[in-house]
Amino acid sequence: MAGLIDQRFGLRVLLGILLGALLGGVLLAALPVGVQPGDTLELTAADGSRVQAKVDQAPDAGPGMAKVSLSAGGAETIGPLPLLGLPVREAAVSIGSAAGFDVASSRVASRGEVKIRPWPTEILHVVGQLFLRLLRMLVVPLIVVSVLMGIASLGSIKALGRLGMQAAFWMVGTMFVAVAIGLVLVNLIQPGKGLREQWAAEAGASAAPQQTVGELILRVVPTNPIEALANLDVVGILFFTIFVAVAMLHIGRERLTTVYGFFEGLNEVVGTIVAWVMRLAPLGIAALIATTVATQDPSFLGPILRSLGLFALTVTLALALHFLFQLAILLWVAKVSPVRFLQMMGPALATAFGTNSSNATLPVTVRCVEELGVPRRIYGFVLPVGATLNMDGTALFEAVAVMFFAQAFGADLGSGGQLLVAFTSVAAAMGAAGIPSAGLVTMVLVLSAVGLPATKLPLLWAIDRPLDMMRTAVNVSGDALTCCIVQRLNRDLGPERDEDDAG
Ligand code: ASP
Repeated sequence: MAGLIDQRFGLRVLLGILLGALLGGVLLAALPVGVQPGDTLELTAADGSRVQAKVDQAPDAGPGMAKVSLSAGGAETIGPLPLLGLPVREAAVSIGSAAGFDVASSRVASRGEVKIRPWPTEILHVVGQLFLRLLRMLVVPLIVVSVLMGIASLGSIKALGRLGMQAAFWMVGTMFVAVAIGLVLVNLIQPGKGLREQWAAEAGASAAPQQTVGELILRVVPTNPIEALANLDVVGILFFTIFVAVAMLHIGRERLTTVYGFFEGLNEVVGTIVAWVMRLAPLGIAALIATTVATQDPSFLGPILRSLGLFALTVTLALALHFLFQLAILLWVAKVSPVRFLQMMGPALATAFGTNSSNATLPVTVRCVEELGVPRRIYGFVLPVGATLNMDGTALFEAVAVMFFAQAFGADLGSGGQLLVAFTSVAAAMGAAGIPSAGLVTMVLVLSAVGLPATKLPLLWAIDRPLDMMRTAVNVSGDALTCCIVQRLNRDLGPERDEDDAG
């Protein structure tokens, strides 16, 4: 996967984003998408009164034909009229003349999924969607092999014993703290609220499922692992995969050479496909961004940019708070001075920042943690597992992002829904590979767990680079923190046993 984590990849993605935004802007100016089925237009009449006009396809009346429900002191339906695809202003005038009033001004009050596009935008749409589908295609294999190989790299069930349990407790525990910090801030700041008016129509069909705690617990165990895989049931997939991995460790590598060989091979195969797909990322992202920009109604862009800015601010603040929490735990539990930790870990954090990849940072993390005095028997398994599974920053990001979408779609998740977001965010973070933007790929799972559409996900690609830099650094510092804690908890084991246990 070496080719995708270099600096040039980041630059190419950045270039893709810029070009996509530029192309989208040009298309928006030259070929704006017209009125869409599902749009609600707000018409202001010459006398200043306002009328909401909900445009819906009139399938029996032929292509492009729409029926319009007007709401002004009582509902009225007019049409069919040939409105679909027309510029908003033209459509508004013809609605006005059909209803018997003069339209002074008009705007799109809410828009669902864009279905009718001019052909250049349609081509970009198909290219972008192909890329998105490729990413989705990789989600299940990625989760399965990265979790399986992470655990199998422990080497033996003995290693999974005391040290493994301690490490797992602190890794999962700190991920939940990260999610909690994210959830508190996203509920306080409400970055998605400003988009509610625009986006609510799109989420209409997918109301959030209300889950009881009992149902949540039951969902962990899949009755049919193949069904869990087919339905992208990430919790079920993880449960089954972890079970398989532990059984593999229990039986031992000697008796399972074929199984180990198979999964190691699969790991390489999936890694290679991911690397290929990632090569397409600059193009795919450019197409996605261009389509997103080109299909906006210009009056929509302001609120989107404002909300995305607020979202980035929420993520940044939450990550900073969590980093402080990590330093506090370091001092209280691991008894390591935060100043020393920052000095020693500086190169690893900077590498994480630059590469956006916990995996790529791993060799540097190992060196830094050695400098901190952590013995090999501890970092030898905590760091490789951590680079794959322990992602505080990613878990936090997943939760904030999904809540952002819930707020924008006007879906009230309630406390049960937010609990589900917390669990699936941790699961999705564990399932994300330690490579750039992996968190965005597995976010589809959290979204589908709470019944939200993934249609607006491409928007986040536009601002993912700086957010990924920060969350990857927090992921890496979490791995080092776990090493320090496990070392402190096992200080009775003494350094002289280091080499015995290392293998
Ligand atoms: N880039 C992150 C990492 O490598 C994963 C992610 O959140 O996208 O740790």
